[in-house]
Amino acid sequence: MVTENVHPESVVAQALGWIDEKTRAINPPIHVSSTYLRDEDNQYRSGRVYMRDHNPAFEQAEAVINELESGHQTMLFASGMAAATAVFQGLRPGDHVLAPKVMYWSLRNWLTGFASDWGLDVELIDMTDVAAVAAALRPGVTKLVWVETPANPLWTVTDIAATAALVHEAGALLAVDSTTATPVLTKPIEFGADLVMHSATKYLNGHSDLTAETVTTRADNEHWQRVRAVRAQIGGTLGSFESWLLVRGLRTLYLRVRAASSTALQIAEHFDGHPLVTEVLYPGLATSHGHEVAKRQMADGFGGMLSIRTAGGEAAAIAVAANTKLWKRATSLGGVESLIEHRASVEGSTSPVPLDLLRLSAGIEHVGDLIADLEQALAKAHE
Ligand SMILES: *Cc1c(COP(=O)(O)O)cnc(C)c1O
Repeated sequence: MVTENVHPESVVAQALGWIDEKTRAINPPIHVSSTYLRDEDNQYRSGRVYMRDHNPAFEQAEAVINELESGHQTMLFASGMAAATAVFQGLRPGDHVLAPKVMYWSLRNWLTGFASDWGLDVELIDMTDVAAVAAALRPGVTKLVWVETPANPLWTVTDIAATAALVHEAGALLAVDSTTATPVLTKPIEFGADLVMHSATKYLNGHSDLTAETVTTRADNEHWQRVRAVRAQIGGTLGSFESWLLVRGLRTLYLRVRAASSTALQIAEHFDGHPLVTEVLYPGLATSHGHEVAKRQMADGFGGMLSIRTAGGEAAAIAVAANTKLWKRATSLGGVESLIEHRASVEGSTSPVPLDLLRLSAGIEHVGDLIADLEQALAKAHE
């Protein structure tokens, strides 16, 4: 497909315009072979040997994401955690890494537990404070800085460009978990990131029916080759059917993300100042921490994720979630259906998440229905 002079919406809708040469099908076949024929002279000219690392089903999804992120190369993994941990496993024992205090909980848990036990020197800092990043970087020792923006579940914002400049000065790599922003709203490589991660489980697929992740690199380097080796050797690769589903989900990415962003903003504005809501956390609110930076690095909206803190503390928050009818009480985010979750119940006592916080993932339902459902649930929780 000609990708010059067409907008990313067009690239995505046609998944790069791929056509099957043999059948002229406009949707790809699902390849299921675990192994590939070797040439008579003992070569593998197809470039494919064995499915753990070589699967044509990966290639279209990788190519579409790589195009959207303007990367050098993109790799698909079987889940967000498989990819994120591969990025850290590409480092060496003793390497110093910085990660945010507020970030996706399962990865924070793995970093402070498993990764630290295996010899990574993990330091959690306030990643919204550029001065704190500057103070924590150890030139030559710090190898990777991990940023998530907007970050789960407080939706705090990190200035990617300012952080990238500091990280590069110290000789380290900047990795951005851009799951919430998606390439529709932010392209971290344009702001200086070296690696961009998406839990494709969320918005990229958008239908809550698979787990997957993509990692895109700005350039080839030794660390990237090690991450590739981790995928091939540890085998956190996606199945063929899931890869096919991901391409199908991706085609509607722009429509879904714009709808969810618009809905999230309307919900945030509606409940900001509401008598039963003590705080709305959303980077799209002009009063929110990080709004100015978000305006600079997010185009076209502030994403579909927000959190509310309820009057009446933890019990009231749990009661609100219990009383919603349209909003589904479930973990995860970025699907077409709206989800609500009491995060403290998931994250436990070492988490920075307030006890009265409910995380909301706006889907693509009618915004009036979503607001009415929250209104009745809030009222019921305070009866
Ligand atoms: C869900 C999520 C992950 C992990 O992805 P999985 O596909 O669930 O393993 C990482 N980062 C963020 C921001 C997420 O929302």
